[in-house]
Amino acid sequence: MIDVEKVRRDTPACERVTHLNNAGAALAPQPVVDALTGHIELEATIGGYEAAERAAASVERFYPAVAELIGARPDEIAYVENATRAWDLAFFAIPFRRGDRILTTTSEYASNGIAFRQVAQRHGVRVDVVPDDEHGQISVDALAVELERGDVRLVAVNHVPTHNGLVNPAADIGRLCRAAGVLFLLDACQSVGQLAVDVAEVQCDMLSATGRKFLRGPRGTGFLYVRRDVVSDLEPPMLDLVSATWTSPDTYEIRSDARRFENFERNMAGQIALGVAADYASALGIEVIEQRVTRLAADLRERLTATPGVAVRDRGAQRCGIVAFTVDGSEPEQVRDMLRGRGINVSVTHGSELYDRNALPRAVRASVHYYNTENELDRLVNALAP
Ligand SMILES: *Cc1c(COP(=O)(O)O)cnc(C)c1O
Repeated sequence: MIDVEKVRRDTPACERVTHLNNAGAALAPQPVVDALTGHIELEATIGGYEAAERAAASVERFYPAVAELIGARPDEIAYVENATRAWDLAFFAIPFRRGDRILTTTSEYASNGIAFRQVAQRHGVRVDVVPDDEHGQISVDALAVELERGDVRLVAVNHVPTHNGLVNPAADIGRLCRAAGVLFLLDACQSVGQLAVDVAEVQCDMLSATGRKFLRGPRGTGFLYVRRDVVSDLEPPMLDLVSATWTSPDTYEIRSDARRFENFERNMAGQIALGVAADYASALGIEVIEQRVTRLAADLRERLTATPGVAVRDRGAQRCGIVAFTVDGSEPEQVRDMLRGRGINVSVTHGSELYDRNALPRAVRASVHYYNTENELDRLVNALAP
């Protein structure tokens, strides 16, 4: 069980705001804020390189901390400035050939869809969108049929989409990909930190995530996981003097582990603080976090459904901490602004999921975290009651 009072004391902003925008950016706990500001102050006091040297153990802690959270090995983790770049680094490292196919899902993130177009135009690759099942998530049966058809180079699917509470059946996808010998890139941006994600169970080859969402890390931080067995087949689209070594005027050697995807220059304070955020989540227990987040969200859906004029829009057989809803007669922005005026933070979904033929209306997105309370859910529902 999570000691809710304790985690709220660790998050002083809980006193001032009802924060239901954790899928946008969660509130960071005080240890994360202290790690971030502490290192910036150290840099200002003794110098940036000198601070990195003194904090070397904390910088290094980032790798096992993130690895432990997702069941990986430390050498399978790279620090990247956000999830989009982490995903891009893996995606653009894949040696696509003309005629290759990429399989994805209707709810795929807009940035990923744009990258698919780039590669499609550059390399003559085809992108096929696997249909949904009756729950509105990727159909595992349809995926199996598409894999059977052949020429698939990559399956790239989100674990949890940005705009909806559904959870895609990542472990079923991973099992099929592994059996077919096809690369599986999982966009876990919205799942890491709220759901128990275990790369051994999911069997993904690559996974991208961000710091600021459910992981409660700082903005401008993220990471990439690359499975040890595939890393040597993936040449990063860009290299530098730490991801590779210039061995002669005409040759270079790329690092053998996931850090081949890193830059020399980075936000050291961010890396340290993201490691602290991962440790903070592990100390609470990711299964316990998932239980509480899932229960609070289910509770909220129930209360919203019982509110006249409010419609819950979530799909999926399994649902997570994201709750999408619409209010009759109001634009999502109006609802968001009204709630903001009452000290309740929510956001609006963009509706940029162009693959989705049964596109959902743009909606209000309320995303709960374990530090939210039933009282806060009441505040939201009461504000919406006619
Ligand atoms: C937020 C999000 C991203 C992008 O993450 P950034 O850290 O903003 O780059 C990618 N995929 C999904 C599903 C997201 O929700």
